[in-house]
Amino acid sequence: MNNLLKEVLSKIPEIDKKTKHKIIIDFTSLQDIIRRQDHLNQIIKKGNTIRKIVSRVIGNNAISSDEVLYQSVLDYILKMRFKNLYSDESPIFLGTSNIAQQFWCQTSVIYKSIEDEYMFKTVYERIIKEKGENLPIEEINKLIENEQQKEVDNNNSNIKIIYGNPFSLDPLIRGKADESLYAEKYPKFMYYFKYRNKIIIAAPDGITDDFCYEFKSTSSEFLLRYVQPVALAQASLYSYFFKRPKIRVQIYITATKKIKTIEEDLSTEKVEKYLNDMIDLLEGKREIILPKEWKCKNCKYKKYCFQKN
Ligand code: SF4
Repeated sequence: MNNLLKEVLSKIPEIDKKTKHKIIIDFTSLQDIIRRQDHLNQIIKKGNTIRKIVSRVIGNNAISSDEVLYQSVLDYILKMRFKNLYSDESPIFLGTSNIAQQFWCQTSVIYKSIEDEYMFKTVYERIIKEKGENLPIEEINKLIENEQQKEVDNNNSNIKIIYGNPFSLDPLIRGKADESLYAEKYPKFMYYFKYRNKIIIAAPDGITDDFCYEFKSTSSEFLLRYVQPVALAQASLYSYFFKRPKIRVQIYITATKKIKTIEEDLSTEKVEKYLNDMIDLLEGKREIILPKEWKCKNCKYKKYCFQKN
């Protein structure tokens, strides 16, 4: 029996107290859920198996207790998964934006990388199928040229599409709308790159012969100083992989309706440090620097986080 399963088992008496039901759970299913290849999305999907087992054991009329138990077991599994995430458990398929987020919170990038790995693996497989495997930069540039032509055609069109919703309370959806409304328009291209033992998916907001472009939006001047390092790192990672000499970053501040623009030369030394730091973080070889306390308040991982302020 692996350690994680032992931990889950030892936790059951506490869950018992909460639900006030005698609990019998099929732990072979739990063991299946926490196998290495099960990524977070699959874990959540398979969580329904636990729900069915629990319903069978405690009866369908005990819906609220069932919910409490289901949530407790699932939360606990996720928490343990996050705790045991280092070394050979560390994700292989990474996203550039997650690597840049180390400047926001070094713990959340570990969680997010685990959460997103399955998605990035799927994207990687799709890129190979649609564009080809291990393309040299010359081949990648030829494909980008085709995208440049499409962008010219789009700019000549009378129809402009706005993605997201500028009035949404969700910052991600609002950010998408801001990007549609205020970002400069360049061709977009997505490809994967290998670095050390990782495969990194890179999809800049725009790409030209000289630079990769990153657009972000933030609500205030106060937050700008925290968003800017993330945006600069992200654009630098893109230019490093796509071999562009410069980066161009724009950040839209909703409170003042101003756009801050930064264009600068790429520093390959800095990018290699971001990449090495990220891999070391994922493999538990680097001490995690805690974020500012206020960042934990609205963090989606605070429920599971073993580092939160
Ligand atoms: S709760 Fe705080 S420390 Fe934990 S991931 Fe979120 S922001 Fe980072």
